[in-house]
Amino acid sequence: VGERLYLGMDFGTSGARYALIDKEGTIFAEGKRGYPLYLSKETVDWTSSWKTTLFSLLEDVPVSLRPFVASIAVDGTSATTIIVDSTTGEPLCRPFLYNESCPDALPIVKSIAPANHTVCSSSSTLCKLVSWWNSDNSNKDSVLLLHQADWLLWLLHGTLGVSDYNNALKVGYDPELESYPPWLLSQPYSRVLPSVQAPGTSIRILYFELNLIQKNILAGFPKDCIVCTGTTDSIAAFLAARATKPGKAVTSLGSTLAIKLLSTNKIEDARFGVYSHRLGDKWLVGGASNTGGAVLRQIFTDEQLEKLSEQINPMEASPLDYYPLHAVGERFPVADLKMEPRLHPRPESDVEYLHGILESIARIEAKAYSLLKDLGATQVEEVFTAGGGAKNEKWIKIRERVLGLPVSRALQTEAAYGAALLALSGVQ
Ligand code: ADP
Repeated sequence: VGERLYLGMDFGTSGARYALIDKEGTIFAEGKRGYPLYLSKETVDWTSSWKTTLFSLLEDVPVSLRPFVASIAVDGTSATTIIVDSTTGEPLCRPFLYNESCPDALPIVKSIAPANHTVCSSSSTLCKLVSWWNSDNSNKDSVLLLHQADWLLWLLHGTLGVSDYNNALKVGYDPELESYPPWLLSQPYSRVLPSVQAPGTSIRILYFELNLIQKNILAGFPKDCIVCTGTTDSIAAFLAARATKPGKAVTSLGSTLAIKLLSTNKIEDARFGVYSHRLGDKWLVGGASNTGGAVLRQIFTDEQLEKLSEQINPMEASPLDYYPLHAVGERFPVADLKMEPRLHPRPESDVEYLHGILESIARIEAKAYSLLKDLGATQVEEVFTAGGGAKNEKWIKIRERVLGLPVSRALQTEAAYGAALLALSGVQ
């Protein structure tokens, strides 16, 4: 190799992956691990499970490549929150998972935060913190809040209490001010918040004050290997596509349709669930629709999708006008929690039907990008595509026509790859 390599690790919802790249972005090694299911008091012991997986992934990095690893970064699921002891780093309770809801805390958070702030969602990190603060009776003198990625990175760099401004957004951190806002700092629980750095900031060299087994696992890594701050899983997936200029966007066509656009300015609109993450001197603007692949899967198998798509003429506009939804309700680009799925009339030909659905989803995507522009974001210029729908070439052609933009499949879509790019940026 004779080169420096950069290691990214992604902790997703069902498992974790790693990617090892060089400065050109060439992948030298990659792999994945499912989370082992440890049980404690009838619930899954997530923190132990993530910790084991972290060291398993490090063990999976080929011994011959380890000496070249210059830096490491980790991404985790957004709003996955761990309350730990601020001196030992040991979790004080089970973690709050990314999608967990704390409706008890929502009225309290709404009463202190500005209207429509990102924290005003019952699954926000701040709602999780407030819910724990108000229900847990233990002594709160040495308490610290960390996000999943912060905690895993701490296991590697040993500096407790560091986060990044992507993970910290949902606890209320203001990346524009580069501080927690006054309305949050005046709360008694603000003292448990971590300090915040830019994602990909080098924190410390790999920490060797670990137990013997862990030391053995880390044995082949260089002593001057740098551990950097991380980010969230969806931002890492965006980074993977290397859409680094304002106007470049990534549409993710998975079970749902999510769009992310790099913009020179920040926009926010809670009605549509639109908010902006800071990325260096730019903003990553995003929104998610409930339309997407889940509806396709309700109607067609993946094999049918492939066969039927082959027969579609993407240059021809479908006259069918649907609003494909998996269930009632839409948020973005139309905020209507009572919106009904619209998938009728169904033509006799399945090819026409699928064409109508793909075209209708493309129209929703176009509307989504135009809403972001109306809200003040940079105009979209080029769209990369990730997710299960990205492999459909006919759909890409339909979307190019409907969006009036160049559309292509993203070369890299794995969040672990994006985390590796972050590790690279941390030592450049
Ligand atoms: P998830 O969001 O669940 O991770 P994936 O990114 O794995 O989803 O994408 C799965 C989705 O891709 C399915 O809902 C399926 O309908 C869709 N899909 C699979 N094959 C095709 C295809 N050839 N054309 C369009 N969509 C497809």
